[in-house]
Amino acid sequence: MTEGTSASRRVQPAADTECAGLRVVRERLACALAEAGRAPDGARLVAVSKTVPAARLREVFACGQRAFGESYVQEALAKQEALADIPIEWHFIGPLQSNKTRPVAERFAWVHSVDRLRIAERLSAQRPADLPPLNVCLQVNIDREATKSGVAPEEVSHLAQAVARLPRLTLRGLMAIPAPTMDPATQRDAFRRVRALFERLRAEGLLLDTLSMGMSDDLEAAVLEGATLVRVGSAIFGARPRPGH
Ligand SMILES: *Cc1c(COP(=O)(O)O)cnc(C)c1O
Repeated sequence: MTEGTSASRRVQPAADTECAGLRVVRERLACALAEAGRAPDGARLVAVSKTVPAARLREVFACGQRAFGESYVQEALAKQEALADIPIEWHFIGPLQSNKTRPVAERFAWVHSVDRLRIAERLSAQRPADLPPLNVCLQVNIDREATKSGVAPEEVSHLAQAVARLPRLTLRGLMAIPAPTMDPATQRDAFRRVRALFERLRAEGLLLDTLSMGMSDDLEAAVLEGATLVRVGSAIFGARPRPGH
């Protein structure tokens, strides 16, 4: 029995299993962009790899994925060391404390979770001179959830104007994680409100190009409302040990 199982597993081409989740997500993304009447390359995919071992990131990189998102600084640094031989574009997407900004400023290309000026100022001051400016998005607490970080919608404009002036950061746009729901209309309503904030900032003169929104369960709704970057974890790598973690 055991022998038969492992033998039949071995006859599958390895790349098929390793890329299966990624392929499904890329197809979902392509379908959503087509349905929205948008360009096929209108939204980038960041593979969210928190809790996923470095060896799996290497496999998914080999399947063509370049951008990976991490939420925990120590975990991310260990993986960056293990994967230093491949050119991953690293995105920091988790809550950021001010005593952890330095390694993030030094080792990431993007930070999606800036929600206060003090963090932005530290990232700018700590960004090494030999690296391009750090790309940042402001995280908006769009559904005003007590459990979530993010700037309140009415404070986004003030924060954005201040962050845009910091010399070693490039303010790219907004990130949001709406309250979880499986109802597509409710999903779209939240993303539409994020988009409206984004358009208002652009009308105020900020040169923004990134709407970072949409995850495994709501990427279609996000793309239909204009997401230019989706952050997808479990649909690529499988369920994480702790839900919502
Ligand atoms: C975990 C996480 C994701 C990915 O969530 P999935 O539901 O696994 O796709 C996206 N964005 C942030 C900020 C996350 O923490």
